Amino acid sequence: MTSAALSPEKPHIFSLRMSDLAEEFMSIGVPEKKARYHSRQVFHWLYHRKITSFEQMTDLSKLTRQHLTDKYEIAALPKVFEQKSVDGTQKFLFKLFDGKTIESVLIPSEDRLTICISSQVGCAMACKFCLTGTMGLMRNLGVHEIVGQVLELSKNANISNIVFMGMGEPLHNLENVCRAIEILLNQDGLNFSKRKVTVSTSGLVPAIRKMNERLKGAYRPNLAISLNGSYDAQREEVMPVNKAFDIKTLLDACRDWELEPHRRITFEYVVLGGLNDTLEDAERVRRLLADIPSKVNLIPYNPHPGSEYARPDDAKVNAMHRYLLDRDVAAMVRHSRGRDILAACGQLRSAKKEALESASAETAPAAVATA
Ligand code: SF4
Repeated sequence: MTSAALSPEKPHIFSLRMSDLAEEFMSIGVPEKKARYHSRQVFHWLYHRKITSFEQMTDLSKLTRQHLTDKYEIAALPKVFEQKSVDGTQKFLFKLFDGKTIESVLIPSEDRLTICISSQVGCAMACKFCLTGTMGLMRNLGVHEIVGQVLELSKNANISNIVFMGMGEPLHNLENVCRAIEILLNQDGLNFSKRKVTVSTSGLVPAIRKMNERLKGAYRPNLAISLNGSYDAQREEVMPVNKAFDIKTLLDACRDWELEPHRRITFEYVVLGGLNDTLEDAERVRRLLADIPSKVNLIPYNPHPGSEYARPDDAKVNAMHRYLLDRDVAAMVRHSRGRDILAACGQLRSAKKEALESASAETAPAAVATA
């Protein structure tokens, strides 16, 4: 594992979309057609060959390489800790230039390898069941810090799916998330299929509407909504965002989300023991989503230390699942992965925070990895 945190002094090359790179080349006098060609060459080096120095871009002129070296940072996002669960889930901690840390998780299943990435350090949304929500928002991630998580972990793993479900509310960092998606899905970039990329939101309605306009065609990701309640008072108890945008307002935005044929919006429903785990809740969810092409993921809550909510009874989760299936709602039960490695959002970061933030850049990896 590497240790040096990225320099904040120069903009990072991973923040540039292909169109930004073409503009950069044109700004130093390269004719448009050649600038576009150069930008494709650079993307190829960065995202296919995954090189870490401009000097290695041997089909660019020496002058062009020098220009990029002078102006941009190219270093990889430093991984400072990793942990593997008995179920194969792997969790990684990355260190940012300001010493802050973020988490990414690789989740293998039969037919896919999903990366769950962070979009912010901490989160402002304060969902009561989420450890990251207790941290508050420290800052948004830059485009390069979002892209960097995927790029770094794709060096040793054949990642098929990306979910924006790690630390942070992606739509609270909308512009950077959209730009990162434009890089991750670019066919000369990391070339992910739009069907394999999902942005999950707690329900920031204006940003859902903006993303609906902002990402079209080849760059349009799947939308997932963190629902977690079957009526306003209940949802408000666990998700303060519901006070600003209630369930009706949220579902209206979902109805206006332009869905391509055969695609659906995913509704995540964390089942909290004794709070939202009854058949009445299942019926209310069914009614709420009746006219929205949707699927429901029931996620039995995995309590973190200090949590005020309990794990639900399996029998109750199974009864909700059966109730929805019997009424033709596409529903699945999704169990938390990596329970033995603090895989719930924010847990690893919390456990390692003090060691990482007090260690120097040079000593952090050894100190933490062996902790
Ligand atoms: S669940 Fe997501 S949106 Fe809610 S506090 Fe946690 S990270 Fe933020």
